[in-house]
Amino acid sequence: MPSGVGVEIVVVVALLVILIAAFVVGLRLRGRPEVPAAAPARAPTDLAARVHDLFKGERVTDADWERLERALVQADAGTKAAREIVRRVRDRYEPGTDPQDLLVAELAERFEGDPGLSLPGPLAIVMVVGVNGTGKTTTIGKLARHFRERGRSVALAQSDTFRAAAGEQLSVWAERAGADLVAQERGADPGAVAHDAVEAAIARGRDVLIVDTAGRIHTKQPLMDELTKVRRVLEKAAGKPPDEVLLVVDATTGQNGIAQARRFVEAVGVTGIALTKLDGTAKGGIVVAIREELGVPVKVVGTGESIDHLAVFEPTAFARSLVRG
Ligand code: GDP
Repeated sequence: MPSGVGVEIVVVVALLVILIAAFVVGLRLRGRPEVPAAAPARAPTDLAARVHDLFKGERVTDADWERLERALVQADAGTKAAREIVRRVRDRYEPGTDPQDLLVAELAERFEGDPGLSLPGPLAIVMVVGVNGTGKTTTIGKLARHFRERGRSVALAQSDTFRAAAGEQLSVWAERAGADLVAQERGADPGAVAHDAVEAAIARGRDVLIVDTAGRIHTKQPLMDELTKVRRVLEKAAGKPPDEVLLVVDATTGQNGIAQARRFVEAVGVTGIALTKLDGTAKGGIVVAIREELGVPVKVVGTGESIDHLAVFEPTAFARSLVRG
């Protein structure tokens, strides 16, 4: 055993070694060019930047139109939609018109006339489905806040009885948003929770009931069947089908998100998309692909992690931000 003085010497030597190592590493790093901590994720795929570069010249060339089509594909708009959008913008283009304005108008038009959120009284029922991790729970919390701010009373139903953490998470969001929570113990029948929730919401005179469901791996048929059952139970208990079946899609999953969405559309009759993480991607064009390929309107978008980061989808504002940055 080293004596007390011996221990002190060992500690001092160890500290000196650490200091010298830190100094040497510091010297090496100083010689390097600075690497940004987070690569500028928006730069390579940012449609606005590309479009801006494209239309700087006096004339718009064939190559410019081809580049625009590629830029739209790179922004996740999908090949078919990209081709059609460029064809239509090109048809409308005349020297002197601004191709960017034409593009904004063309994009916005694709969503014109789409219905917004439908929340008829006395009790509007919103069923929320989606794969785990897409932002389902967060979106439910944001929606609850959104409705509360508009004077509606809100109840949340915890029909995801599978994940223990999901229950806790939802109760935190309920509290933040000022909504009631209807839940049962873990492992309870999701259909039974849905039924109770409708009865409780009616008894308490709530305006909106938002029903969480277990995150589904869309390739697992029994799990999709369970979702169909929850929908049926809601319909029976309320005497009407859910007013909205919102599918939460993570914008950063790109074209995979569309494949996922297709299965949900088939299983539960999705009425609208809640597109999350639009802040974290330069590829907002996925909204175009979803509309084109699934024919389902995008109703709300998530633009961040906090409770106020939800916006009702607005075609012209969306198109402008996609094209103009
Ligand atoms: P769930 O498993 O589908 O219920 O997903 P969660 O609601 O737990 O969200 C998964 C992760 O995505 C969490 O870290 C959330 O903070 C994050 N998230 C959800 N919506 C958004 C959004 O609109 N923008 C960003 N940047 N993150 C989000």
